[in-house]
Amino acid sequence: MTILTHHSPVNFQTNLPREVDVIIIGAGIIGISTAWFLSQSGLKVLVCEKGRVAGEQSSRNWGWIRQQGRDEAELPIMMESMSIWRGLTEQGINTGFHQGGSLYLCENQAQLDCYDEFLGFAAEHKLETQQLSSEQLYTRLNSTPKHWISALHTPDDGRAEPATAVPAMARACAQAGVHISENCAVDHLSITNQIVDGVQTERGYIRCSRVLVCAGHWSSSLLHSIGTKLPQLSVKASVARTAKAPFLFNGNASGSNLAFRRRLDGGYTIAMSDYLEVFPSVHSLKQINTFLPLLRTAAAKMKLRIYDESAYVNPFDSDADYKKVEANRVLNPQPTAAAITRMRNRLDQVLPIMKEVPIVECWAGMIDATPDAVPVMDSVDKLDGLFIATGFSGHGFGIGPAAGKIMANLIQDKTSEHDLSRFRFSRFSDGSKLRLGPSI
Ligand SMILES: Cc1cc2nc3c(=O)[nH]c(=O)nc-3n(C[C@H](O)[C@H](O)[C@H](O)COP(=O)(O)OP(=O)(O)OC[C@H]3O[C@@H](n4cnc5c(N)ncnc54)[C@H](O)[C@@H]3O)c2cc1C
Repeated sequence: MTILTHHSPVNFQTNLPREVDVIIIGAGIIGISTAWFLSQSGLKVLVCEKGRVAGEQSSRNWGWIRQQGRDEAELPIMMESMSIWRGLTEQGINTGFHQGGSLYLCENQAQLDCYDEFLGFAAEHKLETQQLSSEQLYTRLNSTPKHWISALHTPDDGRAEPATAVPAMARACAQAGVHISENCAVDHLSITNQIVDGVQTERGYIRCSRVLVCAGHWSSSLLHSIGTKLPQLSVKASVARTAKAPFLFNGNASGSNLAFRRRLDGGYTIAMSDYLEVFPSVHSLKQINTFLPLLRTAAAKMKLRIYDESAYVNPFDSDADYKKVEANRVLNPQPTAAAITRMRNRLDQVLPIMKEVPIVECWAGMIDATPDAVPVMDSVDKLDGLFIATGFSGHGFGIGPAAGKIMANLIQDKTSEHDLSRFRFSRFSDGSKLRLGPSI
């Protein structure tokens, strides 16, 4: 088994323009999707990426494009995202998108009951989702012994290949005229009289009137440097992939402790659904009270870690600290060996058909979580021209394309068809009682 290393060459480089309309900080799924929609309106757009396009979360995730189990406010956005993924495929952008469905596998009735509320509003949104009996489940899932008694099934859910999807979208953006620059960290936002007027990158200063911060794990630190507080918690998740394997299920499936997703290469991306490691930074420790409800709810699966050089990056607030961004071109946390061993054991235990199938590669990603486990998609009050789309809390890949459309509209001052009040930035500072989303 190999551990993922990141030495991919620079594939996106541009002569940095001196001035553009919009600068996007971060070339993950959110930044590239926003650029895609902005490019259709003729604006001059530059995406600055400190490392590689989709080098961090956006290539390391499970690849689920899931409507099932979403927060009520996210569901209509996610349903739109599904049709955008379909549309990208129709336009020849090869993301590996396939609608094979999602299964939430249940060992007992109590696990199934957790989805009652979701089933209620899913029906209002006309999302097809049903409870499968054991017999119905095992016509779809190739497994003996029959470990699960039933499942929730959303046949329309999809999957894509994270390692190739966003780079494919980025190539389409570049063809449409978007400037994308890898190895181009943004060190400072330049703001005069509370109006954004440009950014200082490691390769020079660029003027612009609008900036989108969608820097994933790094957003909080970047915003902190201009005195804007965003509570964000870093959560490490370890993942692995198997060699080509016997057919199990053609989509995504998760039980109380194991998740697996069919890959285009015939293997499975596997992970533990009950094991996450929390790395509080200096800033998140200061705001730890805001995170207590989330930490309490997910206590069974979140393990608190104090420091791990391979996983943890200090938030920066001095010139010396800025250099850490450039030094961490691609944040490549090491997968936790104990987590990979447990994945292997669980796979053998609940899906014995996989016993002879080796795990060939493993990796980890750093999830950026907000205190209520739903993202921020908003402009920033009193800082004219500054926008934020971050904190997707472990489920931003699937919703990414629609989030990008929302942000492109906000940046152009166009009204969104979605109710975005749940995602407003001010909820962390205006005294609102935070309502937890369905967890990370
Ligand atoms: C293990 C794992 C499994 C997951 N599984 C799923 C799943 O199955 N389905 C799902 O929907 N979601 C999943 N997610 C969540 C999903 O991957 C993320 O929510 C999503 O990728 C976030 O995208 P992003 O663009 O906000 O951030 P990122 O992909 O993290 O991109 C941010 C980018 O900003 C860049 N950057 C940061 N600072 C700077 C700077 N100063 N200058 C320039 N660039 C900068 C970074 O280098 C990075 O490339 C998972 C996440 C992980 C880690």
